[in-house]
Amino acid sequence: MNTTRPQARVLSGKGLAGLVQEQARDRIRALGADSVRPVLAVVVATSDQSTHWYVRSIERAAERVGIDCRILDLGQEATQESLVSVLRDLSVEPSVSGIILQTPLPGAVRAEDLVGLIAPEKDIDGANPLSLGRLAVGQPAFAPATARAVVELLDHYEVPVAGKNVAVVGRSAVVGKPLSLLLLEKDATVTICHSKSGDLARYTRAADVVVVAAGRTGLLTGSHVSPGSVVVDVGTNVLADGSLVGDVDEASVMGVAAALSPVPGGVGSVTTALLLLHTAEAAGLQARIPLMAASSVRN
Ligand code: NAP
Repeated sequence: MNTTRPQARVLSGKGLAGLVQEQARDRIRALGADSVRPVLAVVVATSDQSTHWYVRSIERAAERVGIDCRILDLGQEATQESLVSVLRDLSVEPSVSGIILQTPLPGAVRAEDLVGLIAPEKDIDGANPLSLGRLAVGQPAFAPATARAVVELLDHYEVPVAGKNVAVVGRSAVVGKPLSLLLLEKDATVTICHSKSGDLARYTRAADVVVVAAGRTGLLTGSHVSPGSVVVDVGTNVLADGSLVGDVDEASVMGVAAALSPVPGGVGSVTTALLLLHTAEAAGLQARIPLMAASSVRN
């Protein structure tokens, strides 16, 4: 008797990331005809090596599609005042198309006290609460790239969400909440789970699609999902040996779910590509409407 259980299909993000980068390149080529070269400013204030590695990977990807990436490294001694000043300057600097405030920040500085300074037109990672508010009421805004990456990945693999039960594990302002709003906009019935939800499996087993963004290694196991479900792993956890894993216990989930987006190789590369596409879109918008006018139109 064959006791081998069917293995879930792997939803890789690599092909989609390539397609999104191509879209960014096309937009930048079109902007080039108007002599506009997008500039992405990344503000960094940490000595954390994995953050610097991540920022360099954005820089390399940006250059490949024709975006100038300016890394403003304020160091781990950066103060709230210095960060406020840099973000204010970048928000009104006409040559800058998009701004990312990279976390982590120095101990006493809270990202939530700073992200409101990023001009919404340049908020290409949807960090300003105005962007989240606009998403909530269905107005145009840049969604956080990771949240959009999940939706684009499901779309790319033709996973239906309209009328389906989707469980989102995590309720942060950068992933869980905006993702829930995007899924709601696509007519999914969304259940948002968090650390106080209690019996997590009760919600995730009832879902057709489960997205996990908690930052907890091994949180979602095969016993948390139903046969035929689709699982997207957003978590990124660095183990003691330096390897990167998600929130999903892949071995057990692969034996139950129909499809799984893995870590690494899933949502991450799509997220980076979307940051570039958003930067190109922001540059296009700013080229059409001068910044001061754009602020008054969109605010
Ligand atoms: P976060 O701000 O720490 O939020 C984590 C969320 O998970 C919180 O809402 C928390 O609930 C919930 N949670 C924690 N433990 C849980 C448990 N045992 N059961 C159910 N829910 C639980 O993290 P984040 O910024 O949203 O990021 C989430 C993960 O995604 C992290 O691993 C991060 O590194 C990763 N990430 C990946 C990308 C990418 O591009 N691939 C981008 C951004 C983030 P409470 O609200 O109750 O505390």
